[in-house]
Amino acid sequence: MNSEELFQRSKNVVPGGVHSPVRSFASVGGTPVFFSEASGAYLKSVEGKEYIDYCLSFGPLLFGHRHPEIQEVVEETVRKAWSFGACEPYSLELAEFITSRIPWVEKIRFVNSGTEAVMSALRVARAATGRSKILKFDGCYHGHLDQLLVKAGSGLAGLSSSDSKGIGQEIIQNTLVLPLDDEIALENLFRDHGKNIACLVIEPLPANYGLLPQRIEFLKKCRELTTKFGTLLLFDEVISGFRVSFQGMAGITGIVPDLVCYGKIIGGGFPVGAYAGKKELMDLVAPSGPVYQAGTLSANPIGMRAGLKTLTKAWNENPYPELESKTKKLTSGILKTLEDSGDPHWEVVTFGSLFWLKGKTKEPVRTITNIPSDHKSNFASFFHKLLNKGVYLAPSGYEVGFLSTAHNDEVIEATLTKTKQALEDK
Ligand SMILES: *Cc1c(COP(=O)(O)O)cnc(C)c1O
Repeated sequence: MNSEELFQRSKNVVPGGVHSPVRSFASVGGTPVFFSEASGAYLKSVEGKEYIDYCLSFGPLLFGHRHPEIQEVVEETVRKAWSFGACEPYSLELAEFITSRIPWVEKIRFVNSGTEAVMSALRVARAATGRSKILKFDGCYHGHLDQLLVKAGSGLAGLSSSDSKGIGQEIIQNTLVLPLDDEIALENLFRDHGKNIACLVIEPLPANYGLLPQRIEFLKKCRELTTKFGTLLLFDEVISGFRVSFQGMAGITGIVPDLVCYGKIIGGGFPVGAYAGKKELMDLVAPSGPVYQAGTLSANPIGMRAGLKTLTKAWNENPYPELESKTKKLTSGILKTLEDSGDPHWEVVTFGSLFWLKGKTKEPVRTITNIPSDHKSNFASFFHKLLNKGVYLAPSGYEVGFLSTAHNDEVIEATLTKTKQALEDK
């Protein structure tokens, strides 16, 4: 069965044929590739074609697919236990490893996804403050929990509209939405509503609507105003945590959040999320406190041990500087290839091992309103040219690309060669 046939079959039994929307190629057109194997920097499709992978499962695979050392730990664990629903030492080891290396993580609770982590952290914030309102930013993604599937409506905070059907008006009413990069709007909103806001949630490196690095002044203003108004600051580091540095964006900026969420890398490729923060906040969580949160498969031993091995490697080997320089090498090579082929339209935003290819703009893009309007169609065309030559980017122009340590110089050279061929084909 080839990808086309599998996709047709899948559409009969699964909504849109996929278990997560962006996988469907809805944004770039065409039929999604079905993959059956992965190793290092490479994916293999059901047709047996190899692809260099820059999607990397949307970020978790810091060391590439099935790194041998991580695979060994996974295999060893599979032979010992799959799930206990009871106490075990594996999650303790991971919890201690993180809490002893990230000072603002005094206590941590493991869950099964980033969405679950953010949902639970907001519950803690509402309980801790006795307030109901949450402030988020347009252009940040925090998973698919009801309260955060909301974007700015008619430009007026408080008049939010939701990004999804099926979300009750009463839930939307408690979500305030502001644009990124605007300290004045932030100050005005806090002046009017600050005392009712339980939590300000932000991706300190917004990376789910393109890559929109923020000015440090803006992030500092978030910290300053939340402290002043007794609002909790929640850093959603599901994508940036252990990716831009071991301590994530909080470590890089020196801005200490009250609560933090992790996902993606923390499970080394298995379904793990976590919410964490100061002791007195986390002690509100059941059974030590009144905030209920539970999980049948939470702290699954395989995810815990794959996560610990991944984080141990990240801590010991500090792959970050090298990942960053390889990302620069790859992206400047791609830009040069595009220019040489007579397409000088592009530029690239990078941060550590994350990259985002976008149309040239006069100013750095920090809000979603400044993303060029022809971005989607330009990206779709580039995406398919590369796909054809065996380079797999995330199938949307609003998703970022990732490098892993498996993307060595040879892989990067191969990517640039394929890019050149892709552009020559027309
Ligand atoms: C991926 C992501 C989430 C959601 O995590 P899931 O595991 O997909 O539920 C939340 N926040 C950010 C910043 C993310 O990148």
